[in-house]
Amino acid sequence: MELRIEKVNEKKAKPDYDNLTFGAHFTDHMFVMDYHEDEGWHDARIVPYAPLEMDPASIVFHYGQAVFEGLKAYPSSDHALLFRPDKNFQRLNTSNERMNIPPVDERFLVDALKQLVQLDQDWLPNQEGQSLYIRPFIIGTEAALSVKPAAQYKLMIILSPVGAYYTGGDQLSPVSIYVEDDFVRSVRGGVGFAKTAGNYAASLKAQMNAATYGYDQVLWLDAVEKRYIEEVGSMNIFFKINGEVYTPPLNGSILPGITRDSVIELIRYWGYTIREEPITVDEVIAAHQNGELEEVFGTGTAAVISPVGILKWKDEEITINENKAGKLALDLYDTITSIQTGSQTDSFGWTK
Ligand code: PMP
Repeated sequence: MELRIEKVNEKKAKPDYDNLTFGAHFTDHMFVMDYHEDEGWHDARIVPYAPLEMDPASIVFHYGQAVFEGLKAYPSSDHALLFRPDKNFQRLNTSNERMNIPPVDERFLVDALKQLVQLDQDWLPNQEGQSLYIRPFIIGTEAALSVKPAAQYKLMIILSPVGAYYTGGDQLSPVSIYVEDDFVRSVRGGVGFAKTAGNYAASLKAQMNAATYGYDQVLWLDAVEKRYIEEVGSMNIFFKINGEVYTPPLNGSILPGITRDSVIELIRYWGYTIREEPITVDEVIAAHQNGELEEVFGTGTAAVISPVGILKWKDEEITINENKAGKLALDLYDTITSIQTGSQTDSFGWTK
């Protein structure tokens, strides 16, 4: 497929890079590609960033046929580095398959993304921890109120400069989490493993409740027994117990995080035993009581590694590792961010 490029005549003013709000500013250009059932994916183009005009009957507005991705471009000494973009487009196709959206050409999109980032590279922040957040997404655009897969779609990629997740010092600041025992994020056989808009809409209520109770994020349990740990907020979760590392297996209701995958590879490479096994909240509390719960941390594109310092479950509140980032969390954070910015040799071939 050809990629057409139409550049802006005049570039926008840049925001204040010392006070960036996440996802609030967008670069000069965006990537767009359309799908029609008669033509397949076509008309790939990079064009000036602009609002869309859409029919109010578009399927996405009514039945939520929408998938998205999230990744980052990092400043390095010469050009912007993408972290495992092939994995994101692979996951986009997994989400497409589940949501009945036609598959996309992953390699074409990685290449188109590189061209988009290159064109808007003057938007890439260059201070420590800052990056260009990349949001690819697909929406069903056919105007039709019948419940069916759309016959037309739009795929877009937009870019947003974002600030450092951790500010003011090296130490990763831990989060407090509320174990949600009423609402669930997803069910087996549902869409939890897909990055689809409705999962996030469904999570808002519990997130707001947790905030009301004074906690940063929600820990999600399985929908059936409400015992097995699934994810934390929009991150995967890891536990270091008695020298071994545990994370819930990809069972259909968990999003297969790319940071999760990278962390597992690194942990294994460092010689730890990693157990992708179901783990209950009771087992975590028991490990804490036995003095064996050494570290808990979330993994995701936004924070890379986010230590968990406080965990609230029913009437119990436990403090993990004195509410400080543990050594494994710090080592993982340093190694992954050094690979992402090119300051450490990428022996895994992750950066593109
Ligand atoms: N779980 C959920 C529900 C998420 O939204 C995310 C963010 N994409 C993750 C886990 C972490 O995934 P990744 O490491 O690919 O960012």
